[in-house]
Amino acid sequence: MRIYKIAIVGSGPAGYFTAQAFQNAQTDELTFNIDMIERLPTPWGLVRSGVAPDHPKIKTVSKVFEKIAKTEGFRLFANVELGRDVSLKDLRERYDAVVLATGSSKGRKLGIPGEELANCISSAEFVPWYNAHPDYVDVEVDLNCDTAVVIGAGNVAMDVARILAIDPSELDPTDIAEHALVKFKQSKIRRVIICGRRGAEHAAFTAPELRELPRLENTDIYIDADQINQASSRIEQMGEVEKDLRNNLEAMRLIAEHSKKGVQRKLEIKFLSAPIEIKGRDKVEEIVFAINEVKDSKVTTTDKTFTIKAGLVITAIGYDAVEHAGINIENGRIKNIAGHIEHNVYVTGWAKRGPVGVIGTNKSDSNDVVELIISNLTEPKESEGVSALIKSGHEVIDQVSWEKINASEVISGEIAGKPRIKEVDWKRLISLGRS
Ligand code: NAP
Repeated sequence: MRIYKIAIVGSGPAGYFTAQAFQNAQTDELTFNIDMIERLPTPWGLVRSGVAPDHPKIKTVSKVFEKIAKTEGFRLFANVELGRDVSLKDLRERYDAVVLATGSSKGRKLGIPGEELANCISSAEFVPWYNAHPDYVDVEVDLNCDTAVVIGAGNVAMDVARILAIDPSELDPTDIAEHALVKFKQSKIRRVIICGRRGAEHAAFTAPELRELPRLENTDIYIDADQINQASSRIEQMGEVEKDLRNNLEAMRLIAEHSKKGVQRKLEIKFLSAPIEIKGRDKVEEIVFAINEVKDSKVTTTDKTFTIKAGLVITAIGYDAVEHAGINIENGRIKNIAGHIEHNVYVTGWAKRGPVGVIGTNKSDSNDVVELIISNLTEPKESEGVSALIKSGHEVIDQVSWEKINASEVISGEIAGKPRIKEVDWKRLISLGRS
């Protein structure tokens, strides 16, 4: 019987699916002891701090994570930070393989004048702020304006715009951060405009997310039908059209043609609008856009511009991987070949392939990386795991402590008719785990 020790750094979907792939690969001859190391006092990564609060079904994947965590040989070490509490060198020496599943949490920059103005906020801050991530409680968000602009045409832009545009009472039965719900209830925003820099045919939204928009009870959705028709004729000229793209354009056409309810709250989607400057004295006041056009399948900028007066800008234009000492970043990802970084160190998830794909995409990705790791394994190491490295007195949140935090949040939620009320204070989270 060979028993290997695996360290997985990061407890988001990529981390759990990696653990599951190891568990599934076990045989009578081969066992994996998995230590999952997490910086925060809570696991689940983007399922806790990224998935939109009004999308509770997506979060049910946490049941799968908990099953993985309860499988023999799995241990959680939350509130343990790579680089602060343990070094990569230590992990490399003590484990047969180390897998970084640390995601991409740095919001990309537009690189245009005015981006540094107050109330121009990256989705990398805004999303964890409304999802009760302890590091983002103090993000300054001012909703005291009529119009907000969301830059980017992906599902994160869609989540952000929807959360800003819906009636906040629709967020009452969700696990949105309490501090954010209070702010949304006082929000003066009634018009939210998503601006994509390319055509409707290039939008990164997916059809299910588009199709739910007309079902919003208190918000009217607008897309210019001409932009959709022009996109459709452009792609028809190119020959065979992929099913997903056809579905997307069909969903957008339905939105354009859907009868409006005549409500105050409006969400608009505009294409071919590239931000070139954000203006304002102390904070965001208006955004200048160049009008783009598609010619011979290429998107080019025209010399025509237009301006939107808005007091809030959220940029949702993708993410880069977080850095670790001794690990190289290339094009926003941890430099790797098919998941291998160097020696016995590997990477999976968004940190490996970039910020693309839904939660389930991490499953096949992690399966491939685990297959590669197993094929590279040599003799199992004789060493103690991470426990021996952590300073005495440092409070580790293990699976039992996490279950106490989880139960406490769920019980508080039940009383309020919500799936949970998330605790946002780092110290209180730790004391809940201790109680
Ligand atoms: P994304 O899908 O890659 O979309 C990013 C958007 O930003 C694109 O429209 C891109 O336009 C635009 N963009 C990039 N740089 C820009 C710039 N300088 N100026 C203007 N626009 C710019 O990324 P995401 O929305 O962050 O989502 C990440 C992944 O998570 C995606 O795979 C997404 O599907 C997934 N996700 C899924 C859900 C769900 O299933 N409900 C929810 C959230 C996220 P170009 O195409 O022109 O580059």
